[in-house]
Amino acid sequence: MNRTEIIHTQERIGALGDGFWGPHSIAACQQYLKNLMPATHPFPVEGSSEFLAFFGEHGEEGVYTPPTRKITLPFTIYYDQSPIKTLRVHNKCAASLLRVFQNLATIYPDQLSRKAAGILVYNGLYNPRLKRGSLNSWSMHAWCNAIDINAGKNGNKTAWPATATMPIEVIECFAKEGWLSAGVFWGRDAMHFQATAPL
Ligand SMILES: [Zn+2]
Repeated sequence: MNRTEIIHTQERIGALGDGFWGPHSIAACQQYLKNLMPATHPFPVEGSSEFLAFFGEHGEEGVYTPPTRKITLPFTIYYDQSPIKTLRVHNKCAASLLRVFQNLATIYPDQLSRKAAGILVYNGLYNPRLKRGSLNSWSMHAWCNAIDINAGKNGNKTAWPATATMPIEVIECFAKEGWLSAGVFWGRDAMHFQATAPL
């Protein structure tokens, strides 16, 4: 983000709009999003004992695929150049992700504004793989409860919001349904949203 966009983000989350995204802004942003989340959080914490009971086993190629439901998106998104109109999402968070997209469709009412926000670029949902660099920890994508959006500008090594571009308004739509933003909670990988509660 440029300085003006960072100041806008700071003002939106109730932090001092000085253009410097430091520990104060990070804490304020995390609290702001937690306040937007449902009072009774709909999802368990990643890695908690409740997590497996709730979502079941992770998917594994040729072994197991989590139970999914198909949702029809309110607008078309794109994987590379291919138009995507439906997504398969874990049963336990499919309706929730549909509401996220319905919310996005409301605040970005046409494809032009959606394109400007970066939300037409879809980079995947189900991927039965380990976390990058891990030998035994599975990615949330292996449960079909995480989605990547606009990866090109919000990569795993790209700091949010200093360099990554994911708008706070998009992140809010996910938070209202209880979805965590990696950009806000880990400071990078802002493409990534997952259906788990914050710690
Ligand atoms: Zn991801």
